[in-house]
Amino acid sequence: MVDLVIRGGRVVDPSSRTSSSADLYIQNGKIAGLGGEPRPARRVLNAEGLVVSPGFIDPHTHVDREADENTARCAYLSLAQGVTSIISGNCGGGRMDLDRFYAEIDAGFPLNQAELFGHNALRRHLQIDDIFAPATPAQIKEMERLCAEAMQKGVFGVSFGLGYVPGTSWDEVLALSSIAKRHGRVVAVDTYMDDNYDLENLRQLIGLSRQLKVRVQISHFVYQYGQGVIEEALALMDEARAEGVDIWADSGLYVDWASGISSECFRESYVYSEGFRLSDFLVATGEHAGKRLDDALYRHLRGTKARESVICKTGFEASLLPPFTREYVMPSSDTAPYAPGQGHPQVAGSFAGFFRLVRQSGILPLEEAVYRATLLPARTFGLPGKGSFAVGADADIAVFDYGAIEDCARYPDEGAPDAPAKGVRHVLIGGEFAVEDGKPMNLTLGRSIRA
Ligand SMILES: [Zn+2]
Repeated sequence: MVDLVIRGGRVVDPSSRTSSSADLYIQNGKIAGLGGEPRPARRVLNAEGLVVSPGFIDPHTHVDREADENTARCAYLSLAQGVTSIISGNCGGGRMDLDRFYAEIDAGFPLNQAELFGHNALRRHLQIDDIFAPATPAQIKEMERLCAEAMQKGVFGVSFGLGYVPGTSWDEVLALSSIAKRHGRVVAVDTYMDDNYDLENLRQLIGLSRQLKVRVQISHFVYQYGQGVIEEALALMDEARAEGVDIWADSGLYVDWASGISSECFRESYVYSEGFRLSDFLVATGEHAGKRLDDALYRHLRGTKARESVICKTGFEASLLPPFTREYVMPSSDTAPYAPGQGHPQVAGSFAGFFRLVRQSGILPLEEAVYRATLLPARTFGLPGKGSFAVGADADIAVFDYGAIEDCARYPDEGAPDAPAKGVRHVLIGGEFAVEDGKPMNLTLGRSIRA
């Protein structure tokens, strides 16, 4: 007698990238079998007409803040899309107090959470306050020590947000990447862009991966290269991978990215550069949410509202699909906590939007899309027990209506950025219902995932 059978759904097995009408058995929080002779179960969940997939894994998130209402809501909006595990600490951010962080998650969180060790946060931790200054050799030594310690504690890699700390020396990148390599972990990078066409940093990172033989993950590809060079950037990736370079990427469902107004990426020389108008920038948070920037508002926000987010509406719609035509690209959200009714629709819409896009565009078969959102990130980052229906894998499961799955979130000047997605019927974490019949049941099932 098993605990649960999910009966009669279209079960997608990411390992073979096939689907079949089969029963999925769950016992003690783990996958106990797929198909075969019918087995008795304590509970039967009818999934006829629905797709049964491993829970989605979001490889690029920013859910690092101490637990508060916005963090919990942000995590729930992912769960409502079938996401069961996330990787945070991206773009150089994340937590230095890993023991406390893991304890917070393990006390009960809506999602399973893995963490990267962020270089920008590490610089702040070491009080390197000047973003234009390289770290000294002594500081790099200390970075190496702390990074190795974080690897021991179970982070899945290091992350860089090179656009936020232009003073970063290549020695810093090399030092931390070498430690990731030594531990068999990943180097995730939000690449530095001097302008919208700048591919130099991507070339450098391909060189880094080739030189150290370290796995490199290029973050939110469309946000980096979706303003005019998406094909050129993908061609560089293709070429590198063809010669065996261990480089991968995640990419989102929107072409317009968001960041803090006070961050270096919204510097004057950038927002006033040719090719931009201030009206391309949409305020995402605070009392001015939904407004476009003008000179006065830009100066006001830069000067005083250091925490507000701005969406850079300069992406080309035609850049959205090309990354997903590559087998090494996985969907990601770049999600982060925002106050209710504010923020970027990527938080509530990325994964539902991915499956809606796949259905509407036909760019990928459903089975391939499920693989990209589950086993591909699990393998790339080495998340144990995640992303598959192998016997013994964690029973993190998304059950959804493929004909109806849909993102409902909109940009703040067009609608509600935090409107929950539709079409995801049930979500299980560790064999328990986190979402049942579209309603939240238990938002404390997630646990830390450690390397
Ligand atoms: Zn990010």
